[in-house]
Amino acid sequence: MDKIYFDYASTTPADPCVVAAMGPYLDGQFGNPASPHAFGREALKAIEDARETVARSIGAHPEEIIFNSGATEGNNHALLGAVRSLRDKGRHIIISAVEHPSIERPAAYLESEGCPVTYLAVNREGLVDPQQIKEALTDETILVAVMHANNEIGTIEPVEEIGKIMRARGILFLVDAVQTAGHVPVDVERLGADFLTMSAHKFYGPKGVGALYVRRKTKISPFLMGGDQERGRRASTQNPAGIVGLAKALTVCLENMPQEMATQIRLRDQLLTEIPRRIQDVVVNGHSTARLPNNSHFSFEGLSGESLLMSLDMAGICASMGSACKAGSMVPSRILSAIGLSDELAHGALRLTIGRWTTQAHIDYLLEQLPVAVRNLRV
Ligand code: PMP
Repeated sequence: MDKIYFDYASTTPADPCVVAAMGPYLDGQFGNPASPHAFGREALKAIEDARETVARSIGAHPEEIIFNSGATEGNNHALLGAVRSLRDKGRHIIISAVEHPSIERPAAYLESEGCPVTYLAVNREGLVDPQQIKEALTDETILVAVMHANNEIGTIEPVEEIGKIMRARGILFLVDAVQTAGHVPVDVERLGADFLTMSAHKFYGPKGVGALYVRRKTKISPFLMGGDQERGRRASTQNPAGIVGLAKALTVCLENMPQEMATQIRLRDQLLTEIPRRIQDVVVNGHSTARLPNNSHFSFEGLSGESLLMSLDMAGICASMGSACKAGSMVPSRILSAIGLSDELAHGALRLTIGRWTTQAHIDYLLEQLPVAVRNLRV
């Protein structure tokens, strides 16, 4: 039986043209970009071209892009680096209650080190209220982090509005754009971001490579210390193949964005309307309109999400409860608790995320198999 992939938010297959673009930098053009000889110069040129591409794709300048190992590193770097550099200005940080663990955990660490942290509640649809952020700001606030879109329930946050408030107050704004970069328009000026993070493997690029945008003149101490790579802001030999792959993947996404968004919204909406129509006692989680084109998320009463995933897997359908980071854990998702779901509904979660290679036939097969799986588990 063929396997059908409904877990694009967890990771995506690399596009074949991305793999082709990376090949030379793993083979003949293998140089270390820090080497002054011809091999090094070739690799350096590829990295700088990629930096230009990535910068242009988010409305930034090339020197504002730091290549790294992915958004976990980018989020840790932005939070810890900014707090270290701004020690004299203040220590208070604000994060939304639905941030990814790569922001929530460093924030909790900073809290344990004596930095006051405010966790902003979200409403039933997962939205942060910009007014509440305004009220939480103090003279000591140095950084606010609100993700562009949530990885579990797909809610797109009012980041532009929050960014405006932060810029007016001169407070740093960190935007985790992991689920949006390459999928919906992302522009650092429009979002008012001072830091923005992305991971290539979420938009058909390779794993283990990402980019951190840092607005010009923003102070940030390095997170990895060592060599002078990335203008002294991120030590370690760069990954030319990965960086070329990231830039190529982003280029392909931008070229195809309007069509891909339209197709995915059409397929996603079938899931959002047909699943509650075909199955009783289902809750749709997330926002009805401010939602990622590729995300649908449900809670089923009277069953465990783990069992549902296993049944679907046996039918060749690969899905998720919401977050790869929670796999195997019985603790209800922090995000689902934050939107006010009962433990029972949080345990019956199912996230179906689609992507470049999802077809109508995949959707039809899912819509046929899911009611059967739910019915068998509920008896
Ligand atoms: N932020 C969000 C919203 C994510 O979905 C993820 C990946 N699940 C990350 C950060 C971390 O990305 P990576 O695992 O590539 O470091």
